[in-house]
Amino acid sequence: MTNLFTGIGQLVVNDPGYGDGSPLGIVDDAAFVVGDDGRIEWIGAASSAPEADAVVDFDGRAVIPGFVDSHAHLVFAGDRAGEFAARMSGRPYTAGGIRTTVAATRAASDDVLQANLRRLTAEMRRQGTTTLECKSGYGLTVDDEQRSVTLARDFADAVTLLGAHVVPPEYADRPDEYVDLVRGPMLDACAADIDYVDVFCEKGAFDADQTRAVLDAARARELGIRLHANQLGEGPGVQIAVEYGAASADHCTHLSDADVESLASSTTVATLLPGVEFSTRSPYPDARKLLDAGATVALATDCNPGSCYTSSMPLCIALAVREMHMTPAEALLAATRGGAAALGRDDVGRLALGARADFAVLNAPSYLHLAYRPGVPLVDTVWMGGAIPCHTYGGHVAYP
Ligand SMILES: [Zn+2]
Repeated sequence: MTNLFTGIGQLVVNDPGYGDGSPLGIVDDAAFVVGDDGRIEWIGAASSAPEADAVVDFDGRAVIPGFVDSHAHLVFAGDRAGEFAARMSGRPYTAGGIRTTVAATRAASDDVLQANLRRLTAEMRRQGTTTLECKSGYGLTVDDEQRSVTLARDFADAVTLLGAHVVPPEYADRPDEYVDLVRGPMLDACAADIDYVDVFCEKGAFDADQTRAVLDAARARELGIRLHANQLGEGPGVQIAVEYGAASADHCTHLSDADVESLASSTTVATLLPGVEFSTRSPYPDARKLLDAGATVALATDCNPGSCYTSSMPLCIALAVREMHMTPAEALLAATRGGAAALGRDDVGRLALGARADFAVLNAPSYLHLAYRPGVPLVDTVWMGGAIPCHTYGGHVAYP
């Protein structure tokens, strides 16, 4: 069975080999055909579209690749609205609030954690996200981290162990013993369910030696690496990420010139999370410097109950444009193809021939409206593999 999608006012392919030849590869008055395997097998002008078994007309709307949210913390219980209110009244953000969520998560049943995952991933889908990464990091015992990654597996395309999120209270006086727990028994228990290992490399969390110890253990098990780096201040995080060939260095809020250079000359993606700076009222990363140096930049939500409780990639695009001086085209590319690069995926984040037909239809004539109309729910329908229109969300929508 083939599906023809036509009447597309503006199609963003994310490949300069198409349409206007820009990095977005914009095709006007476009159509495309999706085959049995959920992949795109024809793209062109609507007027020259071939026959297909079924036809869907988008009536002039814009179509973009589904967002790839490459950084989210979705396995948790409770929320921290009170902490947010206090912060907005003048208290700065520190890593310590994570412990509040750890206590709530440990006390929660599997059903509660699962319901929260279902709700948040449905929220993401509704806003155009078709591929997502999810981290653990609010259990911080072998059993609770294992439970977290196992639950995440059912909802996320990539799962990351973040046992080294913060030192839990019971290890407060012996952080190195906690690092040994993470790099040994915790990794052994979780390895089968995870794609990546992540460390919060930051003052108040884990230092360079502790970070390396965890990453060495990840590398020995041939797991991928990503890093929370340089969020709260300059530090060794970005350099370690590049040194270990990490898939991404995330946050990158406080970078030295050497950090920018290292990222630009490596395959490590610089993942920017402007929702965090927005929600913690902190200075934004220098996206222009990274882009102008030639680094690959991704945008992600960092959806979590503490520093940034948004699941909205369109909001991140609006913030990237307004606050970080990215062009609307750069922001959309970072939220789609950039996120895919951060997850080592080439089949999503673009809509070229052979790519998965994961896409969002906008109630707008152009992708520009994502930044131009902040806060407006512009995503009309979301399609996975060109087959499932996800405009009603009773729960998790499985991949075909
Ligand atoms: Zn994070």
